[in-house]
Amino acid sequence: MGSDQRLTEIELIDIDVRYPRTIGRNARLGSHGAGFPARVARVSTNTGASGWGVVEGRAGELQQWVGYPLEELFEPSVGLLDPAAAPLDLALHDLAARAAAVPVFALLGGRGERSVPCYSGAIYFDDLDPEDAPRGVSAVLENCAADWSSGYRAFKLKIGRGNRWMDRQAGFVRDVEVTRAVREHYPDARLLVDVNDGYTPGETIAFLRAVADCDLYWIEEPFQEEAAGLLAVRDYLRESGSRVLIADGEWQPEEDSLLELARSGLIDVLLMDVLTFGLTAWRRVMPQLAQMGVAASPHAWGQPLKTAYAAQLATGLGNVEVVEGVPGGTGGVDASAYRLDGGSIVVPDQPGFGLTLTG
Ligand SMILES: [Mg+2]
Repeated sequence: MGSDQRLTEIELIDIDVRYPRTIGRNARLGSHGAGFPARVARVSTNTGASGWGVVEGRAGELQQWVGYPLEELFEPSVGLLDPAAAPLDLALHDLAARAAAVPVFALLGGRGERSVPCYSGAIYFDDLDPEDAPRGVSAVLENCAADWSSGYRAFKLKIGRGNRWMDRQAGFVRDVEVTRAVREHYPDARLLVDVNDGYTPGETIAFLRAVADCDLYWIEEPFQEEAAGLLAVRDYLRESGSRVLIADGEWQPEEDSLLELARSGLIDVLLMDVLTFGLTAWRRVMPQLAQMGVAASPHAWGQPLKTAYAAQLATGLGNVEVVEGVPGGTGGVDASAYRLDGGSIVVPDQPGFGLTLTG
């Protein structure tokens, strides 16, 4: 990129996230609704280059970068150079890849596969709703059926019902019941569970014991990550010969302590968010993880576009075994270049992220 290239315009554009159904509660949060308004930032330069990406929060500070030399903000082999410009991380990756006429994954090194297994992250506590006539376990099975028919072959079940919404013991029993029911109906599906920090270490082990025959792929955020608790879980898994992976690092990640837990063999998969942790930070951290034999799966929940970003990251950086799928669509964006095939998301080889603004 020439040294005379400057950002000339940063536009905020509204998009519309639409889930295929109302998404209920998890161990920590109330109903997620049927969608929400969101925004992207589109960046243009004086040479006619442009790129865009989703922004979450802090968008008001973006205009400070208008007039800035691109080479002071972004280096294609590294990513963002100024952490203060974090909301432009995705847009500048898109811009740089489009300018080079390559997909983002190529800019990142192309170390992974073009096709990456993808799970539905949309299996929430819909058994508890509506509150005046809860639909029970069948509601969860209906959600699995809907996501299966849209191409998913793996499900992440939210558990931890006793943390806020049910009596503690009854919630635990329901968690086990739901997990067993989904396994029974989908013997070949990859199953993950996510506790959103709703268990104690003791409950985590009790749960893993209760579903030991369900062949879970991972358990996510069983409790606020800490070495003693994770060590107890690790000891149980080892002694029982279980292959269930421990995934953590989504909620308010502290990079140094997470890497230390991973290095100590207490976390198998790190989950920092594809947007708020960011693509540039993932580019920096991934080689360290690969070296210690720890996998990654960037958190993508919230928007279908975040699944696309996480998939590009997986194809670009490698070391990602499975990508979090957010079912649904985005008003104002054509994301049809991404598709599910045999339960895997296939990453397009179009320039940039391969996404088009249609608004
Ligand atoms: Mg989670």
